Amino acid sequence: MIDFSLTQEQLLLQKTARDFAESEIKPIAKMIDESNDQNIIPWDFCQGVFRKGADLGFTSLLLPQEYGGMGGKCIDLVLVQEELGVADVSIASSYFNLTASMSLFLTRAGTQEQQKRMLSVSSSSPHLFSVAESEPNVASSDLFCPSPDPQIGMKTFASSDGDRYVLNGNKSGLITNAGIADAYFIMARTSLDKPMRESMSMFYVPADTPGLKFGKRTQMIGWKPSHHTEIYLDNVRVPAENLIGQEGQAGALLMLLPEVSIGLAASHVGLARAAYEYALNYAKQRVSWGRPIIEHQAVALKLADMMVNTQAARLMVWDAAIAADTDPQLAATVKAPAAKTFAVDVAIKNAQTAVEILGGSGITKEYQTGKFLNDAWIGYSCDFTREILRLNLVNFI
Ligand SMILES: Cc1cc2nc3c(=O)[nH]c(=O)nc-3n(C[C@H](O)[C@H](O)[C@H](O)COP(=O)(O)OP(=O)(O)OC[C@H]3O[C@@H](n4cnc5c(N)ncnc54)[C@H](O)[C@@H]3O)c2cc1C
Repeated sequence: MIDFSLTQEQLLLQKTARDFAESEIKPIAKMIDESNDQNIIPWDFCQGVFRKGADLGFTSLLLPQEYGGMGGKCIDLVLVQEELGVADVSIASSYFNLTASMSLFLTRAGTQEQQKRMLSVSSSSPHLFSVAESEPNVASSDLFCPSPDPQIGMKTFASSDGDRYVLNGNKSGLITNAGIADAYFIMARTSLDKPMRESMSMFYVPADTPGLKFGKRTQMIGWKPSHHTEIYLDNVRVPAENLIGQEGQAGALLMLLPEVSIGLAASHVGLARAAYEYALNYAKQRVSWGRPIIEHQAVALKLADMMVNTQAARLMVWDAAIAADTDPQLAATVKAPAAKTFAVDVAIKNAQTAVEILGGSGITKEYQTGKFLNDAWIGYSCDFTREILRLNLVNFI
């Protein structure tokens, strides 16, 4: 039987996230978005929000209780992420989703010793995580390349040196939370003779490790409250115990974590909903030809489509979330990328329709529609592009 009703606990969690998003995230996101200061470091303003959200359990939501977490399911994550995404998709995705998911990752892929050492779940100092795979020109879409040619793909290299690994290379300017995170999950090749898929390994690198350097914050068209930059690895030495899993297992390990994409998809459902609610509210107030524009069918039909598409995206996300707990393989290969692709499509479409419904106002800075549109487009290539995700998932259907 399929039952879409939420439990009392889930309804409470959803309401807590909604209230938090409205009172804490929205004002900060608005202030950062309206600032014209290119040198602003959004994290200076967002870290207080991150800590408050952590106090409410949003970063430890998925961690089993034995690790001090809330022991939630993926469906709990998506309920929270949608609410946070309504207020700001980048704060939801970059800060909360990544940290909640990567904490869970350590419980799945790390040894007991690593879990003890790396999992900081105390609400007073939750760890902000960053995951670095992409490299300029050689490793982003190429990460999905099926060719066995060892020349193709990632170039960052980790050489074994006694009881340590030494990492050298650089990562693209789009690494989320680079430069502000407390710890990094960095992918590097441990062999250049084997195909990339068999030679990528994952290392846990604390932020204060010598040789770990960062570029200037990347300026983006949207997601203003987030922080992305390049990472340079200059003889970064980490203990051999910081290798997560075995050498060559990084790609397979990330397949254990559909929650990242599902949470990202949920925050885009939130963005789609925000655009819909914003346009709906405007359409009830703006009068043309003597009546609110919502009473003109040309506008009403657009609003109906926005609502219908948002609900369809939400159902795909919930379906993927349920699969993450019952059939993680299916979730990782098909349902999560499908949900992410669809939710971002709907967010882009709704943002565009909101611009249309607001007419001339829609393209002014006075209204939020431009922010919705710019934020939505960023989802297109975040966590791999629409094309790559679909090309890959077709291998599993
Ligand atoms: C907001 C944001 C956050 C990000 N955060 C992270 C992060 O935390 N860590 C990280 O490692 N990376 C991160 N990335 C990088 C992201 O994974 C890459 O941007 C994404 O995979 C696309 O790679 P690219 O930008 O190099 O585009 P390209 O690979 O250059 O693609 C350009 C275009 O060509 C298409 N294309 C490329 N190859 C093929 C192919 N074989 N078949 C069909 N079409 C193809 C693409 O779909 C796209 O339309 C982030 C990106 C964004 C936007």
